[in-house]
Amino acid sequence: MLVWLWNIANPKSFTSRGPATPPNPSINLTSVSGPILTPKPIWQYLGFFFDRKLTFHYHAHFYATKCLSTLNTMKLLGNSSQGILPIQKQLLYRTCILPIALYGFQLWFFKKAPIYKNIAKLKKMQHRATLWITGAFQTSPLEGIEAIAGLVPIFSHLQKLNGCHYLCYASVPPSHAINSLLDLQHAKDQPPHKFSMSSLTPKQQAKLTSPIKDVNERLSKITKTFHPLHPLLSPGSRVVNRFSSRIASHSPPSSSDEDLFKHIQDLNITFCQSQCLPYHTAVIADGGVKKNNVTTAAAHIWLDNHVVNQPQIQTMNITSVGAELMAIYIGLTPAMAIDDTHNITIITDSIVATKKILESHVNPYQNIALPLIANIKLFLRRDRQNTIHFWYCPSKAEWPRHKLVDDQVKATASTPTLPSKNSFLFSRKKECDNILKEWQVSFSSSQKKDQLFLDFEDEKERVLKPTYVKGGSWLPSIGFSNSLCTRFTHMTTGHAPISEYCQRFFPNSPTSCPCSKVDVQTREHIVMQCDQYKQSTRPCNTVINSFVHFLADNPSAFSFDNG
Ligand SMILES: [Zn+2]
Repeated sequence: MLVWLWNIANPKSFTSRGPATPPNPSINLTSVSGPILTPKPIWQYLGFFFDRKLTFHYHAHFYATKCLSTLNTMKLLGNSSQGILPIQKQLLYRTCILPIALYGFQLWFFKKAPIYKNIAKLKKMQHRATLWITGAFQTSPLEGIEAIAGLVPIFSHLQKLNGCHYLCYASVPPSHAINSLLDLQHAKDQPPHKFSMSSLTPKQQAKLTSPIKDVNERLSKITKTFHPLHPLLSPGSRVVNRFSSRIASHSPPSSSDEDLFKHIQDLNITFCQSQCLPYHTAVIADGGVKKNNVTTAAAHIWLDNHVVNQPQIQTMNITSVGAELMAIYIGLTPAMAIDDTHNITIITDSIVATKKILESHVNPYQNIALPLIANIKLFLRRDRQNTIHFWYCPSKAEWPRHKLVDDQVKATASTPTLPSKNSFLFSRKKECDNILKEWQVSFSSSQKKDQLFLDFEDEKERVLKPTYVKGGSWLPSIGFSNSLCTRFTHMTTGHAPISEYCQRFFPNSPTSCPCSKVDVQTREHIVMQCDQYKQSTRPCNTVINSFVHFLADNPSAFSFDNG
């Protein structure tokens, strides 16, 4: 009905492409000297393709096909023997093709949505890209070559993007239309819409399949973090604007060792002055996150060369910057309350945390930063002599007094507290970590990557696991040569131009190796025994670089020129 109405209002907004069935009803206006309006099955708006059933099959098909065409054109830039390097191909795919393929995926990708057809199209597109990057055969198992190319499976990638996308609704301003559709606790004081989640009965909510329901679930798990229109951040009220001469941050001009050394010398002088001069106090703050997600934040308050207070706090499920910010909060707040204190020097190893206090942008640390900014404002307003100076002291400098706090944080036993809500950034990190973990677990136990898939180790003798971070686990070692990458992929998957593999398709063809030592030319024979290849670099372990050296030393191994 909506499509039909739109066609009457704006016939040009419909595209002529799309499936022919089922037809929409046409409207005959010949009786009033008008045309016969025949609606098209697909409506295009802002690059989104709407169909009558809102399946978005055509939308996914359109962008997947567009990307397949782009991939075909990109083959001009490089193939399996020359042109741009595999690592550049991967970068090109991730930055220029994937965002186009997934444009508007939020329309059709949500829990319990029928997504099989759309995923299949995108999977086909990614398969083509993987073959281009690795130079593998069409028949090579997708799961294995995706891992070699450092590309996360398309379904997992969508899950990750979708999880992060839902969390972003926590940052929208109160006037945003979506708030009125959410539960009352997330509505930010917006009156509920008649179709909002809060208007539905529990039974209706259980039956509902909608992204709004998923957003509600995600927002219920995180702490309220964003305050886009907080009065402390409004122009004219910001601390850095009102007290710009009395609050400052000091950090080295560059990360070079010389600049850092000079900066630490200045820090030493400043700290000594703060302990000798009257009305001065120094605070050293540090925070850390343990593997069980327990965060410890600690601070030392120095007065007259003595630590007069050592506040410490433990919490859960926040990021390391949040921990640093919390350490500054618990150190600075009691320091500002000390009688006759006018000048405070606060020393931290996080520039980012300092920026979150001094900058006035909307950010995910506002729930910690805003109470601190309010306290700083009160302190600076109390007396015209009052000043606060932030000093950066990186942990690698091992400045003795900062190291004391650092050691205290590391030595503190981390006891998980009661289950609590996650911070916004912690939740986002968890979304990514969970997807990566699921991929690694399914890859290690999966049969789809083929039984022949070789497991390698890194230099520290850890089995390589698939990842999309820093180009993946395999590609950084092999991605600097097209030929090497192709032959390595052939070797790893077992889908290589050797008689062991060719037998699958040509059972009557000769199978012996040109060296005449074995009846069947196998992968193990080529790597470990064959006289056709140089002996000097034969791998003696399962470290990936040993095999890379062997392939680099024998350009004919696992290539079509292997005799
Ligand atoms: Zn041989």
